[in-house]
Amino acid sequence: MQYVEPAPINRNDDDPYESMMQRFEVAAKILGLDEGTFDYLKTPQMQVTVSIPIKLDDGTIKVFEGLRVIHSSVRGPSKGGIRYHPDVNIQEVKALAAWMTWKCAVVNIPFGGAKGGVICDPRKLTRVELEKITRRYTSKLFDVFGPERDIPAPDVNTDEQIMGWIMDTYSMHCRHTENAIVTGKPADLGGSVGRREATGRGVRIVAEAAMEQVGLKPEGTTIAIQGFGNVGSVAAAEFVEIGAKVIAISDVTGAYYNKNGINIQKALEHQKKHDGLLTDLPGAEKITNEELLELDCDILAPCALENVINAKNADRIKAKIIVEGANGPTTAKADDILDKNGILVVPDILANAGGVSVSYFEWVQNRIGYFWSLDDVNARLHRILTEAYEAVRTRSERHEVNMRIGAYILAIERVANTLRLRGIYG
Ligand code: NAD
Repeated sequence: MQYVEPAPINRNDDDPYESMMQRFEVAAKILGLDEGTFDYLKTPQMQVTVSIPIKLDDGTIKVFEGLRVIHSSVRGPSKGGIRYHPDVNIQEVKALAAWMTWKCAVVNIPFGGAKGGVICDPRKLTRVELEKITRRYTSKLFDVFGPERDIPAPDVNTDEQIMGWIMDTYSMHCRHTENAIVTGKPADLGGSVGRREATGRGVRIVAEAAMEQVGLKPEGTTIAIQGFGNVGSVAAAEFVEIGAKVIAISDVTGAYYNKNGINIQKALEHQKKHDGLLTDLPGAEKITNEELLELDCDILAPCALENVINAKNADRIKAKIIVEGANGPTTAKADDILDKNGILVVPDILANAGGVSVSYFEWVQNRIGYFWSLDDVNARLHRILTEAYEAVRTRSERHEVNMRIGAYILAIERVANTLRLRGIYG
């Protein structure tokens, strides 16, 4: 696989965990949460670090580091993706795990939150090496994972095949095929139809609700999307389907802009031919990832990494709506600036919850051993997300706060209520 140095991206130094906590604190205060419950809900339940020694293709041994954080299992088994990236670190994984708890509560599915990662650069590794890392990581975490305990899923740089290897490794250890151990698997291994597209599809569903809220019609609405992976590329295709115009897309090679609209089908074909990258996409002007964020457009959908919208650039954002396909793309300081400028932000814990919603469907289908049609999956996804959007909007109007704090209020209300009913053991 061709190695591409990521285009510099303006991720400033805001700690994603601190960023998450700042919003949590605001919402907890509004709810009048007592100190004990506050401490309980903010503290991750478990943090695990494992070493992953593997033999590389050239025969040398290399030791990687793997992480798994379970933030909460108050509302059910913990659920959360696994990320392969050189920048993975414990603060990021802790933040991502907590976001999963809040996200599952926002869409009202019976899961807690977790996240995992391996510090590695998949673009410098072969498929064989990635398989070895995945299998060793899974075997090391055999006692943490489990269909009733902690269920991984894909995240940045981990795909259906990697989920398949997790399922197979776990099944080898427990001596029977256990497909409910992981979601986002290939359909032939018990994956759900519509799971791969679910996050991007969900981004479009909540964007439509936001458009309605601000009085925008989908036809001709202009959209800029950062990141053209699982989330961004599907969201782009979905936006085109409802008649919107995607004027910019991007990936690690840079951003590509055409004010008349980018042909997303052709961009997908180009990406396939170029090792999964948008390298020199024809029919578009090359700009930077930073410039993409500041384009004159109706909707901005950051679908890559954290902290890209921060105190340095928030004042220059011109979009009317931001729909956060990525987890944590906006820092807490940036929120204040976006609020002041009247930009409607559909927060990550609502906007990208389509993925975990269909992961929940996949887990349910695996446990009952009966598979639904794509129409069933999509109809249920639509219902879950539109109901969650309304519930968040209601909280935000009731407490006169933005949609992000509204979403945190809803999530904390639900988790705290479950905790109150369960009580504290010990
Ligand atoms: P992915 O690996 O499929 O795609 C990531 C995209 O971001 C790629 O196009 C990549 O080139 C781009 N990118 C990475 N680093 C970049 C950089 N420095 N500059 C510019 N672009 C960069 O990952 P994904 O699954 O699409 O996840 C993207 C985001 O969505 C992450 O924040 C992830 O946590 C979040 N998310 C994913 C899912 C899911 O179901 N996959 C669900 C919820 C949230």
